[in-house]
Parts: sequence; C-alpha cells; structure tokens
Amino acid sequence: MINISAHAKINLTLDVTGKLPNGYHELRSVMQQTDLHDDVLIDEGSKGIELEVMSESEGDGNNLSGALCHDMVPMDRRNIAYRAAEKILEEAGRSGKSCGGVKITLVKRIPAAAGMAGGSTDAAAVLTGINRFYEMGFSEEELCGMGVTLGADVPFCIKGGTALCEGIGEKMTSLPSPGSIPVLIAKPAIAVSTAEAYSLLDDADARGELIHPDTDGLVSLLRDGVGEDSDAASKISGFLGNGFYQVIGGLYPEIRDLCGEMIKGGAEGSLMSGSGPSVFGLFKDKTVADSLKKEMEVRYPGVFFYSGNLI
Ligand code: ATP
Repeated sequence: MINISAHAKINLTLDVTGKLPNGYHELRSVMQQTDLHDDVLIDEGSKGIELEVMSESEGDGNNLSGALCHDMVPMDRRNIAYRAAEKILEEAGRSGKSCGGVKITLVKRIPAAAGMAGGSTDAAAVLTGINRFYEMGFSEEELCGMGVTLGADVPFCIKGGTALCEGIGEKMTSLPSPGSIPVLIAKPAIAVSTAEAYSLLDDADARGELIHPDTDGLVSLLRDGVGEDSDAASKISGFLGNGFYQVIGGLYPEIRDLCGEMIKGGAEGSLMSGSGPSVFGLFKDKTVADSLKKEMEVRYPGVFFYSGNLI
C-alpha cells in the first residue's frame, strides 16, 4: 500500500480576465499549495475500483460537519478520485500495461466545496499513486494530460507547489515557492454556488466595477526570490486579491468578518480562496497564527480552522 498526501490549494491572486465563446471564464491566478492535506491510500484490490471515503474528524465529538461538508463527498463514480482511477486504468490498458483491481481510501481533512480544490487534489493523488503503485511509467506530463480531462485544477495539483494558472486554469507555469509561510485557514458553514459567484462577478464586470489583482506583480516578486526573505508574508500580502471576494464577501458578511478578524489578530494579509467560502491569512509568526486559531475557535463555533504552512 502507498499513501499519497493530497494538498489543498489557496489562490493568492484570482483574476477573471474574460469569457470564452463556450461560456467558460478565463482566469489568471497564482495558486499555492498548503500543508493541509487528505491522505490517499492506494492498494491492490480484488477487482475493479473500490473506493472508501473517511473523514478524519469523524467521532471527534465536534460540530464541524456543516463546515467540513464531508457528507457531500460521494463514494461512487461521482467521486472525481474514482473517475481518475478509471482514467488511468483505461490509459494503461490502451498502452498494454496490465494491472489488477485498485482499492482507494480517501481520508478527508480538506473541507469539501470550500474553494481549496479538495476533489481535484484527490484525483491528482490517485493518478500519481496508481502510476507509482503499479509502476506504469507514465510521465508527469502524461498524468497532467489525463488530469485536465477530469478538472482544470488537476494538473496544478499533480505538479504542486506554486504556479501561475491561466486559461480555464489548465495553462500552468511553475513559480518559485514563497517559502513555508504560516497560514491560518477558516471555512465557515456557508454553501457558495459557483454558478451564482460567476453570475455576480459578470454583473460587477458589466458595471465596470470588477477589481483586477496585480498577478504580474506577484509573479515578479516570487521570481525575484521572496521565499528567502523574512518579510515574505508581508510582501506577498501586498498583492493578495480575488475578484470573487468582492462579490461573494458582499453577500456573506461572515466571510468579510473572518478576513477582518485575521488582520486584527496579526495576519499580514487575508483573502477568500477561489469562489469561497474559505478564507486564509498569512502570518510572519506561526505562534501568532496558532493562538489566533484557538481564540477564533471559541468565537466562531461551527467554523473549521486550520493553522499550518504554505509548501
Ligand atoms: P475548487 O477549489 O477546485 O473549485 P472546491 O474546493 O470548491 O474545488 P471540492 O472540494 O472539490 O470543491 O468539492 C466540490 C464538489 O465535488 C463537492 O460538492 C462534492 O460533492 C464533489 N466531489 C467529488 N469528489 C470529491 C472528492 N474527492 N472530495 C471532495 N469533493 C468531491
């Protein structure tokens, strides 16, 4: 059996730059993985694909199920991890590589429907894990080619780290890491409809009110090697921006509150990730993030908090 860590991402910038004729939106985003992760266990199965999904928080006696949304994660073919297994087994069959059944166990820690690519990262781990377990020998590029058919964020999750993602998210340029900056993540029990988020964003754009973050500025900062700098958290925070935060934050005051509390509590910068509802804060000092987590857990019961690092 092998265990692959499937990491959650946050968007340091997220800019919607246009709309394609097929209705998809074009994005420019600096995506960044964090050390919050699901465990994806790959083992030999008796036949076909077997999938088991567990929530690490099960039985903790906490009341976070509304925030974690792990009960929304399907256990069948609707699970993107299952479809990833189907995809790689099909490709293997086509190229004459044979293997038996596969047993996949997902140990979920990343909240679902959070804007942290929880499903895409599991799919990426399944592709990487099955390739490794059965020594199939697919290259990273080949795995990314399979991944993009499952979801636009999957190739980023395969490569990991830090990257500029463009197009619908699938055009990726790897960037130097900003270093292991402390991050506090908060996921409230709010369900944001992605369709609604895009429609509100289109309305703001039509009114000429959409804010566009300085993604190029952040890319230059990272390329200049900010990861070596003790002020990295504060320098990166100067570039944080997300068009969705503008529209979704207006709709759900709790999202804005959580960002505000992070700043008051010592974060250098704070923002919503993806189309929400997760928010994150970047810190200079991990002990400040840890103690703020403890304090906010008391003030915001039902919100999932995680204190960790960028990777
Ligand atoms: P992104 O940031 O890529 O938009 P997200 O964090 O908003 O992703 P996911 O956690 O991927 O969203 O979940 C979106 C939906 O996908 C969930 O409502 C769930 O029903 C479904 N889903 C399918 N497979 C998975 C999986 N392995 N983990 C989590 N959700 C999954």
